[in-house]
Amino acid sequence: MTDPTYDDRDGFIWLDGSLVPWRDARVHVLTHALHYASAVFEGQRAYGGRIFALTRHSERLVRSAELLGFRIPWTVAEIDAACRATLAANGLADAYVRPIAWRGSEQMGVAAQRTRIHLAVACWPWGAYFGEDALERGLRLDISPWRRPAPWTAPTASKAAGLYMICTLAKHRAADRGYDDALMLDWRGQVAEATGANIFFVRDGRLHTPTPDCFLDGITRQTVMALARARGIEVIERAIWPEELSDFEECFLTGSAAEVTPVGEIGPWRFRVGALTRTLMAAYAAHVREAPA
Ligand code: PMP
Repeated sequence: MTDPTYDDRDGFIWLDGSLVPWRDARVHVLTHALHYASAVFEGQRAYGGRIFALTRHSERLVRSAELLGFRIPWTVAEIDAACRATLAANGLADAYVRPIAWRGSEQMGVAAQRTRIHLAVACWPWGAYFGEDALERGLRLDISPWRRPAPWTAPTASKAAGLYMICTLAKHRAADRGYDDALMLDWRGQVAEATGANIFFVRDGRLHTPTPDCFLDGITRQTVMALARARGIEVIERAIWPEELSDFEECFLTGSAAEVTPVGEIGPWRFRVGALTRTLMAAYAAHVREAPA
């Protein structure tokens, strides 16, 4: 049996202030966001009925919209409440939660000042983002020819739908070439991140991770850095060049969907699914189930 499509499921979606039956949460084809990518979104996970780092995600959603020049007509507290209500309405305890805000149908053309801003929240059960076996074997990453844009080329600190165009292209190319995902370099040629997750490397017991100056400074990234430092592990944020990848022993990705997923290879370079990666995978898994929302 094939999985149901995302528009044809039982359950409820929060749309502009109320919970509606899943199949009724629709938009018109002449929606500004569909044509011009005027949408921002979030992705967070619930563990045992509690959404991890919920308020930080809601705050980032509001900020992402501001960076695209629009204001979500709901407060952070109201967005938090909408996420919790959606989870509860669907009777889910462990789930992925997806809020999205977008410009509506009042205007066509590039200008959008008069569009109404919409907000929806959906949630669904979602297992390991890369599959359970990736957690043991480590991911195989291709190196994408698509580069993360400079901060003056796109609003790179926003979790904006439009920024995912190159991620999907990179991901599809990687899949066609037999890889799980792709490493993306930035506009300078420095190591940036994967298509939907941040990246870390291990050398001599220290963590190295690129400075997030043109890509998302992920909430999982920040959480893992804090967990590492609390365990006395030094974390170095700096520019990392692809030539250095041969010097690293371990590598892993972080993201709300990806959690902490080990990487076994990137192009010609090989990494161990080693002790430090395993320590942080376990620490993160425990933390998201314990930490206050
Ligand atoms: N980079 C990209 C491109 C992403 O899509 C994500 C997932 N939101 C991340 C990094 C990690 O962000 P977070 O840890 O806040 O989920």
